[in-house]
Amino acid sequence: MDDNNSDLGIKEKVMNQLRGVIDPELGSDIVDLGMVKEVDFRDSGELQITIALTTAGCPLKAQIQKDIRGRMKSISEVKHVKVNWTELSDEERAQTMDRARFNLSKEDVVTQIPPTTKSIMIASGKGGVGKSSVTANIATGLAARGLTVGVLDADIWGFSIPQMLGVEGRLAGNEETKRIVPLVKNIGSGTLKIISMGFLVDENKSSLNWRGLILNRAVRHFLEDVEWGEMDYLIIDMPPGTGDVQMGLAKMLPRSDMIVVTTPSKTVQTVATRVASMAQSYYLRIAGVVENMSAFINEDGKEYNIFGSGGGEELAQELGVPLLGSIPIDPFVSNGSDTGVPVILGDGHAARALNSIVDEVISAVPRINPLDCTAHGSLETSVSITNS
Ligand code: ADP
Repeated sequence: MDDNNSDLGIKEKVMNQLRGVIDPELGSDIVDLGMVKEVDFRDSGELQITIALTTAGCPLKAQIQKDIRGRMKSISEVKHVKVNWTELSDEERAQTMDRARFNLSKEDVVTQIPPTTKSIMIASGKGGVGKSSVTANIATGLAARGLTVGVLDADIWGFSIPQMLGVEGRLAGNEETKRIVPLVKNIGSGTLKIISMGFLVDENKSSLNWRGLILNRAVRHFLEDVEWGEMDYLIIDMPPGTGDVQMGLAKMLPRSDMIVVTTPSKTVQTVATRVASMAQSYYLRIAGVVENMSAFINEDGKEYNIFGSGGGEELAQELGVPLLGSIPIDPFVSNGSDTGVPVILGDGHAARALNSIVDEVISAVPRINPLDCTAHGSLETSVSITNS
């Protein structure tokens, strides 16, 4: 056993060692986070440490315990360690989370997103409004125009991008660079480079226990450790609402634009404004609003406003940004998601609306260095799909 700090009191040595124990979820050490509640050392060599967790059922308890025990081995006076667990009070938990967020905000993130890539976050106030469908279709539409498009599925609780784009597989690393390689799908002469939690876990439920900050770290890996390579656009499917992942992304990609997806309904419009104000507080630019699930158009061209009308236009006006388009309710949208062939590649009301939205996106969020496009070929409209 190695004990270099014999001049220090035992408690101090214990605290110094505990400073090396990182809460895997919060990313800071447990002393800094105020989680070490008591250190009791007896001359017999008995050490009792009381740790307060953010929740009693914290799945990372075993890891913290193992780390503590391992570290105490370096203190020769300690013969036996007992770790007691307790829970932070609501007030303490709020302070701990603030501290963890503050520490995270100080860390520099060097993303692998090339400076010539325009990133666009597709956001919504709540789930189920068609945000992922809009992401999959906009990305596919951009690729169908001959562009190279990254798709980051940051909707980690409810990832659906692999299914919607018809891409299956497991993420693998590049032996040389030690970076994760995105899965690739070619659309005509364009390319999609896709990263999703769905390529790492077996089922959706595997990630359900994860909470905000650890998800934020997972998403951060997707920006820092993925070999994205050159891309014209990076389209990000954000989790619905405003939470740690959304704020983390906003901080990590400060030059990003955001497109807010809403439905014609007033309630959805109200929650969408919250996402927009989060974006604005991080100085992200809101490029426009997309209204999804607008009127259903029957075979005779008659429109039925099933979810009301006007929500998209009102939100756009409220935010002072353009309405990039409205996508009707169209069974082909969900068929496309189920079969992995996004509706934008077909025909019909929704496909036309989405193609027009893609054109609007290109003019609202122009590519960086648009003149330097020889490598991308001309913009194509007719496409064939191959997986690789
Ligand atoms: P979110 O990402 O906002 O949770 P999804 O894109 O997963 O929403 O869409 C929710 C469901 O609604 C999916 O089954 C999808 O296929 C369907 N859907 C989305 N947009 C439309 C539309 N315009 N017409 C018909 N179904 C749609």
